[in-house]
Amino acid sequence: MEITKNSRPCLVDNETKLKSIIDLTANKDYVLLTRTLIKKLKNIQGVHKVNLYEVYGNIDNKSTKKLLLKDVLDILSTLIPFYQRVKQYPSPEQIKSENYQGLLRNDIQQTVFPIHNIANAQRILVIDWQNINPENWSYVLSLLKVYSNLLKIIDEKDRDQLTGLLNRHTFDNNLENIINHSKLQSKKARNNDKNSWIAILDIDHFKQVNDKYGHLMGDEVLLLFSRLMLSEFRYSDILFRFGGEEFIIVLTGCDRKGAETALNRFRKTIETYRFPQVGKITVSAGYIFLDSIQSPNTLLDHADQALYYAKETGRNKVVYYNAIASILDQVSHINNIEIF
Ligand code: GH3
Ligand code: MG
Ligand code: MG
Repeated sequence: MEITKNSRPCLVDNETKLKSIIDLTANKDYVLLTRTLIKKLKNIQGVHKVNLYEVYGNIDNKSTKKLLLKDVLDILSTLIPFYQRVKQYPSPEQIKSENYQGLLRNDIQQTVFPIHNIANAQRILVIDWQNINPENWSYVLSLLKVYSNLLKIIDEKDRDQLTGLLNRHTFDNNLENIINHSKLQSKKARNNDKNSWIAILDIDHFKQVNDKYGHLMGDEVLLLFSRLMLSEFRYSDILFRFGGEEFIIVLTGCDRKGAETALNRFRKTIETYRFPQVGKITVSAGYIFLDSIQSPNTLLDHADQALYYAKETGRNKVVYYNAIASILDQVSHINNIEIF
């Protein structure tokens, strides 16, 4: 077998191809699957660099500079403007419809592949390559097809079918990672404006919406609600549908005032939005500092207590757990006295 200078074989043999497919199918997770794909692609002679991005922003907008990229392998990383990473960036039409090729420098080509979509973002795979053998290129295309098909299955598992938001299963599987990441970010930052917060939101009196307008109309409200979440919160915040009319938001890179402002801004948006037929609805929220000292269960329990407090004290409000913790303590103390 002919070996290149960097010891990658010129042509990938059938056994390696088959092993790559087997390795890809062994992944059940978006990030792990993407990591495996990138590793396989980088092993192909002629491939220089591979990145998978989620593209945010209005893709129909002619100005590609307004688009932002989120590196999938660093899911909470800061967003970078599209044009800084994709050198010969394609037009929005090209991203949508076909693979785009552009010349970078010194004969290095860059090809942008649209990959299976998620709600409100577009995925693109960017490969920098040079002098690639046509047989290897067709292997690249096959790997991308397999990757895309697997991603469809993973999306169905990890995302809520109605809203396209991440679901509870994904939340449960990733909470520890999110907490660890948050700890790292807080440590790196000199001030406290790089913290993370976890908020539970619950639509007020949603049962009445279903009772009065029917379940389908209720679903429509949930869909519109999730769209408003996506447009109101930052791309770097992580949004989940926790179940029913409950949602979770992990707010990243802000201090407490920022978190409270963002949550209240969203609460007001919902209050003033007029949902077709249904009209006005409101939402309550409880939130807590996403620190690493508490166990994931305690964190959720505390955020839930803050939400419960918001419901009990009139709804349509945002409550910070630490602000009511002493009141809750007193209540539980009084309850204990009554019991004994
Ligand atoms: P509260 O202000 O205390 O939160 O009152 P609520 O009526 O919102 O709360 P409750 O928990 O009593 O009712 C939640 C309702 O949400 C019950 C159920 O009919 C509705 N629901 C849950 N999941 C879905 C869904 O997927 N679609 C629709 N249309 N309704 C749902
Ligand atoms: Mg509820
Ligand atoms: Mg509710």
